[in-house]
Amino acid sequence: MDSSYLSKENLIYKTLASNDKIYIREQKGLFQRIRRSLNFFLMAIFALVPFIKYNSSQAVYFDLQQQQFHFFALTLFPQDLLIVCFIFVFSAFLLFYITKLFGRVWCGFTCPQTVWMLIFNWVERRIEGSHSHSKSLDSQPFTAKKLVKKSVKHLIWAAISLLTALVFISYFVPVEQLYMPFFTMQSSSLTVSWVLFFAVCTYINAGWIREKMCQHMCPYARFQSAMFDKSTKLVSYDQQRGENRGRRKRLQEKREDMGDCVNCNLCVQVCPVGIDIRNGLQYECINCALCVDACDMIMEKFNYQKGLIAFTSEQTPFNGWKRHAGYGSFIAITLMAIIVWGQTWQDFEVNIIRDRQALYRVNQEGKIENSFIIKIRNKSSQSKQYKIELAGLDSAKIIGASQVEVFPHELRTISIVVSVDNPLIDKKNDISFEIVDESSKSQIVKHNSFYSGERGW
Ligand code: SF4
Ligand code: SF4
Repeated sequence: MDSSYLSKENLIYKTLASNDKIYIREQKGLFQRIRRSLNFFLMAIFALVPFIKYNSSQAVYFDLQQQQFHFFALTLFPQDLLIVCFIFVFSAFLLFYITKLFGRVWCGFTCPQTVWMLIFNWVERRIEGSHSHSKSLDSQPFTAKKLVKKSVKHLIWAAISLLTALVFISYFVPVEQLYMPFFTMQSSSLTVSWVLFFAVCTYINAGWIREKMCQHMCPYARFQSAMFDKSTKLVSYDQQRGENRGRRKRLQEKREDMGDCVNCNLCVQVCPVGIDIRNGLQYECINCALCVDACDMIMEKFNYQKGLIAFTSEQTPFNGWKRHAGYGSFIAITLMAIIVWGQTWQDFEVNIIRDRQALYRVNQEGKIENSFIIKIRNKSSQSKQYKIELAGLDSAKIIGASQVEVFPHELRTISIVVSVDNPLIDKKNDISFEIVDESSKSQIVKHNSFYSGERGW
């Protein structure tokens, strides 16, 4: 594996070279088909998920105002942030593991930056023609024809950006309050500002910044090489087979002094980051395999064996457990943490505190009374009845109502008074509050307090 791509000169050269616009040539082939199908599937999910209803509300929805995240029957509050951390850690290790096995396939096949960049390129090719037509159009002086082509292209780019922004915002604003009001100009100025902000970001990213985002801004590009090992499958050029490269006619006999690379430069023209994979592994390569499709097509035309550029590794991938142990164990641990969280998660939350405003008091019957503040959060989407019970001291009783109804997602605060007999006991006795969800009976939350004779709790 060539590590010279990390040299200072190489980095400076790449930075300077990357200032030129890259005119990506379109390429068909196996990997391009895989990417298109995958992208179509993922984009359909991205756009359609906000339209799914659950209990007549949007099934997946971030309610920023109420600080809630709704995912079908599950509603998460800021105090449930732990599960979000687990999911992020799990996803990060899964990504690292896939990178260790197949290099930067995330970047090449599913990263939104690459996907939108290639969508914008597809539009550019439809309007301006092939990559060489596009290049020559840019070098021409401004004419009416050029103005029309450029305007149409930018208008379509702007429309795609606007749609992307609307889809993204629909995870934060219910679809009924977003699409129609937006197009009939009845949306709030806050919603319009956010939609326009994300539309401009998409337009600039996919239309103008393009591969420079991957080369200079994305941190993942910088540390990905730390995850590679000698068995990582990376897109690479078979130098032994390809060199000496040289142009030739299609039906010409193979020459002993020439390798299989016909020096057609197609692998460079299709590369979205503008590199020549024949120069060895380079940090800009996003493993998109467009050059693999291009080279395979040429090999087929020349009746040579495919795979001059291919997903290969420096050594045969080994399947021993050691290779998978590191990331595998982190993935397993975080997955277990998610499962345990799911098993122990309850759809209501209780917080009980002693009422600091009032001291204990002795009532007319000679019993000790103390006040408690109970906060019950109903995280479910149904109204629930909760019963408050006491355990620990037989004489402990709740004075007043011990049942409370809490509406969906509501935080209900109630104050209760607890009395106990025999104030002269001078030892500590545990007392427990049991909050029972009356609908399921199975969910109980206990909070301990203690009674210590004349001092109360
Ligand atoms: S596409 Fe293949 S044959 Fe053409 S220049 Fe690249 S490596 Fe050589
Ligand atoms: S070198 Fe090949 S795999 Fe790497 S980014 Fe360019 S086209 Fe994609």
